[in-house]
Amino acid sequence: ASGYTLIRSPHHNKGLAFTEKERDAHYLRGLLPPVVISQELQVKKMINSIRQYQVPLQKYIAMMDLQGRNEKLFYKLLIEHVEELLPVVYTPTVGEACQKYGSIFTQPQGLFISLKEKGKILEVLRNWPEQNIQVIVVTDGERILGLGDLGSHGMGIPVGKLALYTALGGVRPSACLPVTIDVGTNNEKLLNDEFYIGLRQKRATGQEYAELLHEFMTAVKQNYGEKVLVQFEDFANHNAFDLLAKYASTHLVFNDDIQGTASVVLAGLLAALKLVKGSLSEHRFLFLGAGEAGTGIAELIALEISKQTNTPVEETRKNIWLVDSKGLIVSSRLDSLQHFKKPWAHEHEPVGELVDAVKSIKPTVLIGTSGVGRTFTKEVVEAMASMNERPIILALSNPTSQSECTAEEAYTWTEVLQPLHVLLNIVSFTVYSMGRAIYCSGSPFPPVEYNGKVYYPGQANNAYIFPGFGLGLIMSGTIRVHDDMLLAASEALASMVTQEDFDKGLIYPPFTNIRKISAHIAAKVAAKSYELGLATRLPEPRDLEKYAESCMYSPSYRSFRS
Ligand code: NAP
Ligand code: MN
Repeated sequence: ASGYTLIRSPHHNKGLAFTEKERDAHYLRGLLPPVVISQELQVKKMINSIRQYQVPLQKYIAMMDLQGRNEKLFYKLLIEHVEELLPVVYTPTVGEACQKYGSIFTQPQGLFISLKEKGKILEVLRNWPEQNIQVIVVTDGERILGLGDLGSHGMGIPVGKLALYTALGGVRPSACLPVTIDVGTNNEKLLNDEFYIGLRQKRATGQEYAELLHEFMTAVKQNYGEKVLVQFEDFANHNAFDLLAKYASTHLVFNDDIQGTASVVLAGLLAALKLVKGSLSEHRFLFLGAGEAGTGIAELIALEISKQTNTPVEETRKNIWLVDSKGLIVSSRLDSLQHFKKPWAHEHEPVGELVDAVKSIKPTVLIGTSGVGRTFTKEVVEAMASMNERPIILALSNPTSQSECTAEEAYTWTEVLQPLHVLLNIVSFTVYSMGRAIYCSGSPFPPVEYNGKVYYPGQANNAYIFPGFGLGLIMSGTIRVHDDMLLAASEALASMVTQEDFDKGLIYPPFTNIRKISAHIAAKVAAKSYELGLATRLPEPRDLEKYAESCMYSPSYRSFRS
């Protein structure tokens, strides 16, 4: 290839880091200024320039531009500054990017499959330059983060998730394929936006929708084989559960909003058990929000308790209660409930308000997954604090503005000692000089200073699980996802939380070690897959964790031989 082609190819480009020898051998003389610099210096230069931007969206654009120019530098930068750059390439900034995708769109970073491609999807897949695909992240744009229907502008999500698959999970970038399926949008604003990049029509539903999705799933298996992982992302719940159920027995499918969320939250709860007494089965759970996240988490908790106690899951579900927009889910509502809520309709009189549900159910763990902010009011949190020595409060709704309560509120409102409990348990209460809540959120919150001590609210970020989970599936050649693999991933993540983390109030480990965490999760997921007979890469590697690490993509430059 000519030198010019080399510096225009994001996979090969090294910019000023091409060595003298490479410049001679690959016709690069004169195409670059004389200086030769290291990749380390390039990283330093890029992080400095990104820090100059005040507006998060500008940082995002700079990152995407770099990804399109110099892939290895993009990943090295992202890996080395992961805590700083995760919120740029993923939530919350990616949300704003999707909202403005039509205006910032420069070059396509994934495949757009619209109703226009019906009947031709296999050909479309073959238009993509890489054929050795291991992970596809696909969205139909109907429920992008907490932002609703963004149609084709949802493409930012598969692109961002796959960047994390590579940076955090070490999956090769060339093996990743972002896909947006465009069946229209019901977002009037977008339909009237002159810069909208998608189909200008209302969403196709029913048979028309199902047929396009089915053609896609069939073409994917035909083109990439049985072992390609298809991650469904940000589908609305009226399609998400059905798609997952429909393809779980024929494809390697995973829904991060349902299963990934469940696994990461269960991990946090398993870790939190080290701070509170009792086993998972001795806890009572109340959810606000009974959609993909809420029922997904609830089901995985029930499954974990069922395994731990050797009790049927129908029994273990009874300690778990959910509230949706119509109030507590109870048996008298059974007939009118969507199917994914039915297992949670327990015997109880109807309750409309969350605070009344808290008082009646007496949960030890309160989890917010409704997407509606400010719903864990002072009254709700105080009720939790009056019944529990250390209430576990997870405010998972995103973005930050939709959080059920802030970290500061959770700590402040649980400080006051409740008279009843002081009487019952004087000794242990004297230990707490600040809020007793064990809190974590879906969106990041800054550390809280309280009575001279700094508390670090944890973030139940899905990025803890899915990259390592996917790596575990890929490296073992797994052909089907099994719930036990999700449990294995949760346990693996929970085991990575150190005493030092707990002392800071954290129930998740810091992100700085994420590649190590991902390798550990991958190893445990792969081990479970071999155990279940679902792995096809034989023989099983002896040290799975070492093997996981050896599989991980390195963002360091290779040298080009002449
Ligand atoms: P979803 O499937 O649309 O479910 C939303 C649920 O909330 C539905 O059950 C809905 O009730 C209920 N709801 C809506 N408004 C309510 C209100 N005012 N009072 C009580 N319940 C209400 O959405 P999802 O995918 O589960 O996501 C929900 C939230 O969780 C989002 O904000 C998302 O960002 C967040 N999330 C966080 C993480 C994380 O922290 N790692 C992961 C995934 C999701 P009906 O069923 O009655 O309509
Ligand atoms: Mn999602």
